[in-house]
Amino acid sequence: MIVRTRFAPSPTGFLHIGGARTALFSWAYAKKHQGAFILRIEDTDVARSTPEAVQAILDGMQWLGLDYDEGPFYQMQRMDRYKAVLKQMLEEGTAYYCYCSKEELEALRESQMQQNLKPRYDGRWRPEAGKVLPTPPADIQPVIRFKNPQTGNVVWHDLVKGEISIANQELDDLVIARADGTPTYNFCVVVDDWEMGITQVIRGDDHVNNTPRQINMLYALGATIPQYAHLSMILGDDGQKLSKRHGAVSVMQYDEDGYLPEAVLNYLARLGWSHGDEEIFDMAQFCAWFDLDHITPSAAQFNTEKLRWLNAHYIKQTDSAVLAIDIKKRLAKLNIHLQDILAQQFPQLNAVLDLYKERVHTLNELASSIAYFYQPPVFDQTAVEKHLTSDIKPVLNGLVEALKEVEWQPEHIHQAIETAVTQNQLKFPKVAMPLRVALTGNAQSPSIDQVMALLGKDQTLARIADAIN
Ligand code: GLU
Repeated sequence: MIVRTRFAPSPTGFLHIGGARTALFSWAYAKKHQGAFILRIEDTDVARSTPEAVQAILDGMQWLGLDYDEGPFYQMQRMDRYKAVLKQMLEEGTAYYCYCSKEELEALRESQMQQNLKPRYDGRWRPEAGKVLPTPPADIQPVIRFKNPQTGNVVWHDLVKGEISIANQELDDLVIARADGTPTYNFCVVVDDWEMGITQVIRGDDHVNNTPRQINMLYALGATIPQYAHLSMILGDDGQKLSKRHGAVSVMQYDEDGYLPEAVLNYLARLGWSHGDEEIFDMAQFCAWFDLDHITPSAAQFNTEKLRWLNAHYIKQTDSAVLAIDIKKRLAKLNIHLQDILAQQFPQLNAVLDLYKERVHTLNELASSIAYFYQPPVFDQTAVEKHLTSDIKPVLNGLVEALKEVEWQPEHIHQAIETAVTQNQLKFPKVAMPLRVALTGNAQSPSIDQVMALLGKDQTLARIADAIN
């Protein structure tokens, strides 16, 4: 059997973490089995679907690199197909017209509630052998209902949750087309999963209640029933339902916040799935390992610290020339336009990134921590007061003089600082820290001789002079 999976978002908002994980798992499952991954946009909720949301989903998928083999298919463009299947079901007797008015259904509901019964359609328009149906009222446009079996159970072996069995008695006859003829959500999903030949439906477990109805409709259509894998929900860092503050944001927000797609993908892969203790792996490895047996049925909890840790790893691993393309854009947002600056012989971005990429957790942090190479440092006043004390200024003054004669290489610079340290009977940090503050604006930086080497002699001497005057 050729594996065919799908991701079927409703374009009513951005692609968030939960949706992205569903897409990733469906994508990886298809890749692993050399199958096809299909993107289907479920846009039949016209009031809530927007073109912006469609675009946001496409952008999110592209940013993550979740490429699809077929689609995007838009349900609104498949109305003719749904209508043809409705017609077929009416003809075959697996669906029927129901002429109940809103008021009638409301009255039915009321009376069931009063008798402490679960509100459900009572089947008054359901055709049965030997049953005489009421005469259709002329003033009512009928809906179409699915003729759900009334006995037995719907049973499926959920690939995540195990065996699930629902008594058909629990399921009433679902409306599959509204009075205006438009098909309803569950029906469109069924027709599409059937016609698109989906073999594994991997989706969030908020859909688990739809599954028995969908399976019954698939049976009625004579379709092969796909396998189902319902992924448990993702909780926020705080253990609560995902909220804006904890993960319920667009995946593009992670781009905005300085995360690499590799890190987000690796992070999502581990959200509810595991392969032993493996934490760091790329998508080729993930696709090779991925299976549905190792998905946990319990809720997964979002952990921002872990995502940051993975991001740091991937930043470190990425070639500086590649990072540079991204960092230039982030610097531009800080109003540092490198194409103007580089002409003036400021340090090459690649070399600066080599020095800094091991020290940060996000690309935004990377951009802001190297900004001082390309603009005057922004001084952290606490660091200034702590380290640029009046007793150290004469030492720095002497050092400036010595540095003027130095060949501008880290080891020679280091030697000059060492000499100043020894001559003044100080400890190394007593000189290095004020130098850091003078050159970078704060007290954290990589090895100071390397910073100075990159910053260049003129800038270094000018910044120290400024700081001590
Ligand atoms: N359109 C549904 C949603 O966005 C998904 C339906 C499905 O995967 O079956 O939640």
